[in-house]
Amino acid sequence: MAKKYVIALDAGTTSSRAIAFDKSGNVCGISQRPIPQIYPQPGWVEHNPQDTLATQLGALTELLVSCDIAPSDIDSIGITNQRETVFVWDRNTGAPVYNGIVWQCRRTADMIAEICKDKQVAQTITDKTGLIPDAYFSASKIKWILDNVKGARERAEAGDLVFGTVDTWIIWALTYGAVHATDVTSASRTMLYNIHEGCWDQWLLDLFNIPSSMLPQVYPSSSLFGATANPGIAQGISICGVAGDQQSALFGQCCFEAGQAKNTYGTGCFLLMNTGDKACKSTSNLVTTIAASAPGTKGFEYALEGSVFIAGALVQWLRDELRIISKASDSEKLARSVKDSGGVYIVPAFTGLGAPYWKADARGAIYGITRGTTPAHLCRAALEAIAFEVYDLFRAMEADAYCPISMLNVDGGASSNNFLMQFQSDILESEIRRPKNVETTALGAAYLAGLYSGFWKDKQEIASLRANDDVFEPHMEDFVRKEHLAGWKRAIESTIRY
Ligand code: ADP
Repeated sequence: MAKKYVIALDAGTTSSRAIAFDKSGNVCGISQRPIPQIYPQPGWVEHNPQDTLATQLGALTELLVSCDIAPSDIDSIGITNQRETVFVWDRNTGAPVYNGIVWQCRRTADMIAEICKDKQVAQTITDKTGLIPDAYFSASKIKWILDNVKGARERAEAGDLVFGTVDTWIIWALTYGAVHATDVTSASRTMLYNIHEGCWDQWLLDLFNIPSSMLPQVYPSSSLFGATANPGIAQGISICGVAGDQQSALFGQCCFEAGQAKNTYGTGCFLLMNTGDKACKSTSNLVTTIAASAPGTKGFEYALEGSVFIAGALVQWLRDELRIISKASDSEKLARSVKDSGGVYIVPAFTGLGAPYWKADARGAIYGITRGTTPAHLCRAALEAIAFEVYDLFRAMEADAYCPISMLNVDGGASSNNFLMQFQSDILESEIRRPKNVETTALGAAYLAGLYSGFWKDKQEIASLRANDDVFEPHMEDFVRKEHLAGWKRAIESTIRY
């Protein structure tokens, strides 16, 4: 009997989800469990590895029961994960030696600052990994565990401990300890993987003092990682798609060619652009990373990645602090109630300015307020600010890649705001496509699995499933667009000078 579903496991930061996709790429069922967040000290963030598994396997079981999906209906499993988060466990017993250290955790910021005092070392890290050295990536978190958990370094050096990102930990559990593996996109976020040579890098391992015996096998994102063997779940199902969340979303958005990009409008924004087989170096502190590829792709495909810290969070601020809207979606109506922002510009540098400016000590500002400024003007200025931030990233990315972005695919909570999407299209002078199915992160992992298994034939078939998008075309007059951009530029420059 034909298999009906590919299941995506989405190991996010705040929740674990399981989603069933049918052959048309439709969501047929979702189940979700929140992950308890552990904050042992200010700036530290941890997950209990058992919570990660219980929520992920719990979501999977719940999905199968609630949607009446039999194991024989399942074609394969794909996994997407929050990236960079680190688990270390004993390869003999499967017992973790410490909580998972989550990507947001800043405990190793001083360690990275110390290492980067030597500018040449910092540059070599970037040259090898495509990343800007930071506590965010996995390397320093693994070192922290080895240096701070009693007995961990000795056990690691004896070959007893292994490391993994969340995907690795879940694959280990699903295969009942038979497989210790990750995919190239997740490996490329550890700051230990050489993205040009396609291998764990001995120089980096020495720098962070991490034994190579701890590292997982690295496979292409669409390949056979193993089969489920955990007695608690359906047996013998192939796990054959794995990717980090942002790369998975890029794939789920069908950005298969160089010049195709996606932006996720969540709390912050993540803009990724496929740069084909070229690993572009950034001059604006964007990172270079490995993109997920379909089976049979020769070598690697790469992406440039940039992020904005505050995007949807600005809308939350309007709601929770200014209290001028009662829910995020009200921002659209309020913004449309005025014909323009009345000359108001908001620079949402609440936690500093990110790419392409990089000024960590900058703080937010509102310019151009008059006696006639109303909540509606502020709301409109806030949505416009999100679009301006993305504009800056977009142009920086085009300059780094020497390639215009052909069209922007969007997803994430704030992408449902039609005012924002139209304004974004106008400011970028670019077409924007919003898929009907905004579950692009999970969809990417499902596509990767289903392409390997043969559930879907090829990328063309997948791309054809995207027929019914909303499309936003630019139609702002040139002089209006230039005025907007000039105002934004003045606001940014004033914020940097302040
Ligand atoms: P995350 O994955 O980062 O939690 P989501 O993709 O769930 O984010 O999106 C939530 C964010 O999107 C919130 O910051 C919220 O303020 C914003 N948001 C949601 N709906 C809208 C809307 N209609 N207009 C503007 N912003 C919105």
